[in-house]
Parts: sequence; C-alpha cells; structure tokens
Amino acid sequence: MIEDDMKITESEWEVMRVVWAKEHVTSKEIIEVLQQKKAWKPATTKTFISRLVKKQILNTEKIGNKYLYSTDVNEADFIKSMLNELFANVCNRKKGEMIAYLLNQMMLSFDDIENLETILKNKRNGAVEQVPCNCIPGQCHCQITN
Ligand SMILES: [Zn+2]
Repeated sequence: MIEDDMKITESEWEVMRVVWAKEHVTSKEIIEVLQQKKAWKPATTKTFISRLVKKQILNTEKIGNKYLYSTDVNEADFIKSMLNELFANVCNRKKGEMIAYLLNQMMLSFDDIENLETILKNKRNGAVEQVPCNCIPGQCHCQITN
C-alpha cells in the first residue's frame, strides 16, 4: 500500500519512472534520461530527487563518491494505488462507463483482450441490475434522477 505521505508530484513521478526502469541509478543517469523529455536544469532534477529521499520513497547508498538511488515502492502497486484513489472520486454507478471510456481509447494486444474477456466473463456472475450508489447526497445525480 502507498501511504498518504507517499504522495508524489508529476515531476517526482518522472524521476520515479527512471528509478523503476533502472533499479539502481545515479542522479547523473536520472538527469540524462529526463533531459530527453523535460527542459529541467540538473539542479531542478536533483531537487526532485532529494524530495523523494526526504519522503523516504528513494533510498540512497553511497558507492565511492557517488550516490545510488533505488526504491522499495513497486511501480505497479503505486499505479494501482493512484487509480484506486482516482476512482474513489467516482460514483460506483459511473465506474463501468469510465472503464469503457478508458478501454475504448487504448491500444491493446490479443493477450490483453483475452485477459479482459476472462475478467468480464467472471464479472457477469456477480453482476447486478443496477450498481448501488456510494455517494453522499449532493455529490452525484443518483438521488435526483433515481
Ligand atoms: Zn452516486
């Protein structure tokens, strides 16, 4: 699980993706990768790295005169936690529609589709006529348009 104090900014996320891709990286390597995408000065990237260290998301290890950065946070777990957080803001009744929207705009492999078909087949067993609304009155249209 990702704790509340593990929240990261979009910029810190860019740094994390380099760490996740390489597992053990120096600040120089992070700067080099992100130069292809961002117009950040090395000092800016270093600021993001030190914020991640301060948040205890990045671990540091001193090898000679260099610092190596790594993380114990799993990328897939992190993304799942972000998705859950996002979907927590959506009425239960609207979630299917939002997932359909996402699916519709994505490029998928045959394996992805097979996996999704299996999930959907299983989901049919537990399906309901109408998903109950989980919102407080005044935060969605369910109570009004019921
Ligand atoms: Zn609702």
